[in-house]
Order: sequence, then C-alpha cells, then structure tokens
Amino acid sequence: MSGLEGLYQQIILDHSKARHGDGELTDATAEHHELNPSCGDELTMRIRLDPAHERIEELAWRGDGCSISMASASVLVDSVRGLTVAEAQSLTDAFREMLRSQGRGEPDVELLGDAVAFHGVSKYVMRVKCAMLAWVALEAAVAKAGSPAG
Ligand code: ZN
Repeated sequence: MSGLEGLYQQIILDHSKARHGDGELTDATAEHHELNPSCGDELTMRIRLDPAHERIEELAWRGDGCSISMASASVLVDSVRGLTVAEAQSLTDAFREMLRSQGRGEPDVELLGDAVAFHGVSKYVMRVKCAMLAWVALEAAVAKAGSPAG
C-alpha cells in the first residue's frame, strides 16, 4: 500500500466514525431517500437552500449502511455545505467521474478535496454505488427543491 492510499483509507475510516451531518435538519427545503439494494445501504438527505434556491445553506442526513456509504455522506456534507447549487453539481459530477474511472487517471484533488479519498473505491465496481449513495440523494433532493415558488 502506498502512503497516499493509507492516508485515503484513514480519511474514510475517520469519516465513517465521525459521520458529519448525521442528524435532523429543521426547515428543510427538500429531502430524498435513496437505497442501495446491492449492499443494503440507505440514506435520507435533507437540504436547506437559500430563498433564491441558488445556494446550499445547510444539509443533514440520516442513514444506515457500510462504512464507505456512511463515510461518503460525511465527506459530502463537509464538501458541499455553503456551495452554490451549480458548484455542488460540478463537484458531484467530478466525484462520479472519478468513481467510474476504475482506478485509471488522476482525480482533480484541487476540486475534490477530501472526496478524493474514494478514488481507490473506483477499482471495486460493487462499492461504487455505496460511495455514490449520498451524492445521488443530494442531486435528487436539489431536483425536488426546484425553483422557488412564485
Ligand atoms: Zn455499501
């Protein structure tokens, strides 16, 4: 194992225990429940957007599953809190692209931040859905929120 892989595994382990954002969210703009049947992971993502629905002010999740799915949800919360919806989508796209790389290529560390720790997961097709779970739930919650009414 390279030093970098060890560091990445440590980030995943730390986040699977710390579970940042694990909890309820008052005044949620939208929520979405997502299931990963192949592993049994499930998660409900709740988001609160600003009045213009341009920025993710706060987000929180409740879920249960393997350490990769829980760690990924924790990293997601740290990564997208305070971002604009467009920035969060760019990050989600980069994360998905990295996970589909099957271990090839160099992920954009600058853009991905701690989320780059999941690069190694891309070599394990069965675990990609675990890592994507929270991010898919976020995308769906943002889509449900849509544009502000009126
Ligand atoms: Zn899983």
